[in-house]
Amino acid sequence: MSPTAPPRAPGAALSVRSITKRYGGTPAVDDVSLEVAAGEFVTLLGASGSGKTTLLRIIAGFDDADGGSLLLDGRELRSVPVHKRDIGMVFQNYALFPHLSVEQNVAYPLRMRRLSRAERQRRVAEALEAVRLPTFGRRRITQLSGGQQQRVALARAIVSRPRLLLMDEPLGALDRNLRDALQLEISRLSRELGLTVINVTHDQEEALTMSDRIALLDHGRLVQFATPDELYHRPADDTAAAFVGESNLFRGAVRGDGTLELAEGIVFSPPTLVDGSPVGDAAVAVMVRPSLVDIAEPGRAPEAHSRVDGVVRGVVYAGDSRKVIVVTRSGAELISREDAARPTRVAVDQHVTLHWDPRASVVTRVSPDSHSHAESTAS
Ligand code: ADP
Ligand code: MG
Repeated sequence: MSPTAPPRAPGAALSVRSITKRYGGTPAVDDVSLEVAAGEFVTLLGASGSGKTTLLRIIAGFDDADGGSLLLDGRELRSVPVHKRDIGMVFQNYALFPHLSVEQNVAYPLRMRRLSRAERQRRVAEALEAVRLPTFGRRRITQLSGGQQQRVALARAIVSRPRLLLMDEPLGALDRNLRDALQLEISRLSRELGLTVINVTHDQEEALTMSDRIALLDHGRLVQFATPDELYHRPADDTAAAFVGESNLFRGAVRGDGTLELAEGIVFSPPTLVDGSPVGDAAVAVMVRPSLVDIAEPGRAPEAHSRVDGVVRGVVYAGDSRKVIVVTRSGAELISREDAARPTRVAVDQHVTLHWDPRASVVTRVSPDSHSHAESTAS
């Protein structure tokens, strides 16, 4: 980029097309495709080992894929060497040079560019300003807290005005409060600068807080690529439903008359549940968020509600809410989450009926590799 380039270079669009990477025959990334818009903040979310880092490293150019293509603003990327990809990176473990000052660390990516000393200083100052460390230039890295070090790493990643910013668990080493603050900072900064960001995390809250869209990965497979809202309310399958937020999940089948037949003796009424439900599919999963599940004395649930009977196994307080864990006859654990300020009177070992408005049920697909019958997933 020339020194006369506009100071707010907008991010590039990234196309990931059928990218596959195998290690010893097992796919770490399995035919993943993503169209990321310029200026978009996308998070790769998934459990450990789901292929997030592998995909990010392929985008960065540290590794090459076995197949598929990568395009940056429509230009083929796989044959471009790392240092020419115009990409900024932030890792979990800062990767700063401890013997250099903050300024020298931030200036490092500019060393290969033909910039005047004044321009270089201006850019470093700008980057430090952006991460809200304007007066820290002369400090040594060892004199900074973890959060400050990660801000320096971020300043270093943006100082060369990359077209794409890649972050791999950038906040993973920080404590909760600092992480929350930096999540907001990074979102603000990336939007102000118009950066295209691919962020990696296993923390669903972080993904939901920061992202325009989330790419949920499971065993290298892309489960869903959607906005946080869609992912939460319209999970593509039971894997997505189980991973994002807390959920009660049932497996069942659609009968000829269109009603759902589920285990656990659950009565669903009215029979046609949710718009867009995949009626006609043989096997389905039904998800109900615990916060939409109420507790009644046995048999006392409203007539029109879906219901399941069980025994209270435990009551767990978590700040403003508490969860009541109920075990059904077949041994499935279901959850009702309620406002801790307005708790239902229940005791362990008490027989209850869990019930909910049928409209709270989300019917979705059964993923290829799911097994269980009915379960709740806590996050
Ligand atoms: P994540 O970042 O989501 O935790 P990774 O991308 O690091 O997952 O790993 C995905 C899978 O690929 C894992 O099963 C991991 O063991 C495997 N893997 C990653 N890198 C290598 C490698 N260099 N050699 C062999 N297997 C690898
Ligand atoms: Mg990783």
